[in-house]
Formats: sequence, structure tokens, C-alpha cells
Amino acid sequence: MKKNIKNFDLDDLKEELKLLGEKPFRAEQIFKWIYQDKVKSFDEMTNLSLDLRKKLDENYSLGLFKIVRKLESVDGTKKYLFDVQDGEGNLIESVLMQYHHGYTICVSCQIGCKMGCKFCASTGIPFSRNLEAGEIVEQLLAIERDVGIKISNIVFMGIGEPLDNYDNVMNSIKILNNQKGLNIGARHISISTSGVVPKIYELADKQMQCTLSVSLHSSNNKTRSEMMPINNAYPIEELIKACKYYIQKTNKRISFEYALAKDNNDNLDDARELVKLLKGMLAHVNLIPINKIEDGKYTKSTNENIIKFRDYLNDHGIVATIRRELGSDISAACGQLRKQNLNKE
Ligand code: SAH
Repeated sequence: MKKNIKNFDLDDLKEELKLLGEKPFRAEQIFKWIYQDKVKSFDEMTNLSLDLRKKLDENYSLGLFKIVRKLESVDGTKKYLFDVQDGEGNLIESVLMQYHHGYTICVSCQIGCKMGCKFCASTGIPFSRNLEAGEIVEQLLAIERDVGIKISNIVFMGIGEPLDNYDNVMNSIKILNNQKGLNIGARHISISTSGVVPKIYELADKQMQCTLSVSLHSSNNKTRSEMMPINNAYPIEELIKACKYYIQKTNKRISFEYALAKDNNDNLDDARELVKLLKGMLAHVNLIPINKIEDGKYTKSTNENIIKFRDYLNDHGIVATIRRELGSDISAACGQLRKQNLNKE
């Protein structure tokens, strides 16, 4: 199988070109064609010789996705189902959201997910493999090509656990960052993790400049373990210790995600416990009204409880906001992404 040319950041692409007997500056030209001009074939790279275009075509693919289905919400959110064209028929979902400050894409990083969170629709997808860096980047390019826009923000909050596909995710960020390509600054990229503790230390030591979101969802181990099996491997104390290390090393604020489920983690005792846990940390709490999944036992908290919960946190020194729900009518909201089976929508 041909190599996906989108798996290479600019430096690696220079090495690839050397192997083809070409000058490294060709890599910059190719990079520009791919990420700025968004070409769909090597043939369109008209400042390269016909011979080089042919060589590229023989050795590499552009890793283009095929749009299998596209759904549009009343709020403008769009959900895409892509065929990743890997010959295995693998499908993934990505979501485009429009805010007043620009477009944000929510990307998937794995085909399926191993984490098993009980409230998340992606849990129903058997894990088949990690996405490669080029497949992460292509989600953005395919949508930019389709809509004719420039996406300014990326959140790794689709299907999969980014820190369980660490190398490819980091590589994709390098590609997204490159000023000669998409030029998306680290501050416009967020990674969300269910709490893979050793990798949080690695991110801290690397001084990663992206925003880190941590899916906390409960401040006690009993409830969190029921919701998220990963808590058995890395319980709250260890997770918070890693987060404190991250904050100390990077001086960056962590965003804690907390999906409120009725009579599960949404009363004022839970809020009190959460304040104790996060007190003094450079942190922000993002409250998400939980989206009920099919056959799931968790249901959305009442609006009244959500507001009370938020106010309690804010009154006790923890900055908390309620995440605006986008795209729930097309199952594009948090925790609603699956691999396929869109026929019921
Ligand atoms: N694996 C990563 C990213 C995936 S999802 C992680 O766990 O963080 C992004 C966010 O949506 C996470 O905070 C996740 O816990 C949350 N989420 C998942 N299912 C949800 C649901 N049904 N309702 C609300 N939020 C949900």
C-alpha cells in the first residue's frame, strides 16, 4: 500500500524527498499544495516537474476521505460520516461547529474506543485501530474542502482516547501547527482525556502548549469508577496529582469536564466535594448536561440543578461554565458519536 503523504510533518517530508533523490525545498512546495491549496491530486502540483508528480503518485497517496453522509443541525452544526478509504471499509465521524469566533472541528482519533465509559455512545463501537496522523488532519481538510471555509480551532473530543494514540496525535498536532501549512496555533487546539495518567506527565514534561481537558465527571472514586472503568487503573488521587504536576510544569489551566447526570453526580454534596478536590488549582470546570445514550442508565440533570451546581462552584472559588449544547438533533453532541449505524437518524 502507498504511504499517506499527510502522515509526514514538513521535516519528515524533506527526508522522504531526499530518499526520492529530490531537493528538500520541494517538500515545502508540496506542503503548501496540500495544506494551503488543498489539492486532491499530485497532478495539480504544477510547479513540480511531471516526472516528480509521477514519482509522488507512484509512492504516496493523498489519503483523501469520502463523505458517506452529512447531517446538518438547526444550529448550523454539521456531522460528517467519512469512509477513510483504507480498503477495510472503516468509517469515522467528525463534527463542525460554528461559533462567533470561527469554526471548530471535533475530530476522532481512533476507530472505536477502548475506554468503555458507560455514558458514551462510542463505547458501543468495537475498537479496531488508531487513526494515523494524516487521517486526523484529513478530517479537517475534507470539511474545509466541502464547505469552503477555514477552520480555526480543533478539539480532540470525537471518537477515541487521544492519549491512547499519543504518537499519532502529537504528530498530527505538529502538522496542524506548521506555519507553512495550516498554521493552527497550539492555543487553538484542545486535547481531551479520560485520564491516562502517565501520558499527562509526558505532556507536562513536553511543555505541550495545547489546552488539556480532563474528563472528571465525579469527585469520588465509587461514582467515577462506575461511570469510567479507567478510574480503576488511575483513581482520582493519582489523576489530580498528575494534573497538579501538569499545571506546575506548564503554568497552564486545565479544563475539567463534568457531565451532569440526574441523581448520580449532580447534587450539592457532589459540588461540595468537587470544590474540595479542585481548590487552589489553576482550573476551570466545564459542565456538560449529559446526553442520554440508547439503553444508557444516565439521564440529563434538570436545568435547575445544573444552574445550582454551577453557581455553587462559582460561589466557592471554582470557575465553572455550562457548555452550550450543539448538534444534539443530529446526534452530534458530546458522547453521541458512533462509527456508523446512522440509519435511524
Ligand atoms: N476520550 C476523550 C475524548 C472523548 S469525548 C475523553 O474521554 O475525554 C469528549 C467529552 O465528552 C469527554 O469529556 C466525555 O466524557 C464527554 N462525553 C462522553 N459521552 C457523553 C455524554 N453522553 N454526554 C455528555 N458528555 C459526554
